[in-house]
Amino acid sequence: MAARLVLTDLDHTLLEADGSLSPEARAALDVLAARGIPLVPLTSKTESELRAFLESLGLAYGVFENGAGLITPEGLEISPAAVPAASLGTALASAASDARVRVKTLGAHTDAELTALTGLTGGDLERARERRFGVPFLVEEGDADALLAVLSSRGVRTTRGGRFFHVSGNHDKGDFVPSLGARFLGSKGGEIAGFGDAPNDAAFLLRVDRPVIVPRANGPDPELLDLLRTSDVFVAPWPAGRGFAAALAELLS
Ligand SMILES: [Mg+2]
Repeated sequence: MAARLVLTDLDHTLLEADGSLSPEARAALDVLAARGIPLVPLTSKTESELRAFLESLGLAYGVFENGAGLITPEGLEISPAAVPAASLGTALASAASDARVRVKTLGAHTDAELTALTGLTGGDLERARERRFGVPFLVEEGDADALLAVLSSRGVRTTRGGRFFHVSGNHDKGDFVPSLGARFLGSKGGEIAGFGDAPNDAAFLLRVDRPVIVPRANGPDPELLDLLRTSDVFVAPWPAGRGFAAALAELLS
């Protein structure tokens, strides 16, 4: 049975390392649109970053901040597990003090510092700052593991991105999969395909019928591969948009 709903991570999966959409990925999106198959991005990006992306492609739905919320044409659906950034910041400051660790949150960085760290500038940088349900931070001094242990003992979820650690509520990219399935497939059923490249994509790839790992230049992420070891997982033949397009063509054939 062919896929009737496609869920995808954005960075390094549908999008290139620089955030652009390759010609192959754009052609793949045109095929989905022509066949009436909905595409829903699931990303760690903020609501405003995701909104800008959705508008650029004429898409209506997307999950932002790792499952904190869903953008729909009727408005936002916020996960009951989402915790406002202000509360998370307070919990982080208290845990850092107790663990004798010096942290610097994303919000405490100047624009120039953030541009050096992330490559983002102007409106893109502004939208990246508008994080409502998570606090990215760097450990500047002290034992990061000690801090993570204190946060964990207080029930605060911590994940590690590329450079930044990240505290958030207890939600992930998989939380909205059942409601998206019900919304788009209804009682007719049909398969859901999912595309991701990193360990934080495992939560939704484990809940779809056809999970696809999009590799990096040196192959699929070993941690993600291990997390999906019990699934019938397909590894795309190339990284990023070109791999996404090739794997999608395979799933639709
Ligand atoms: Mg990614």
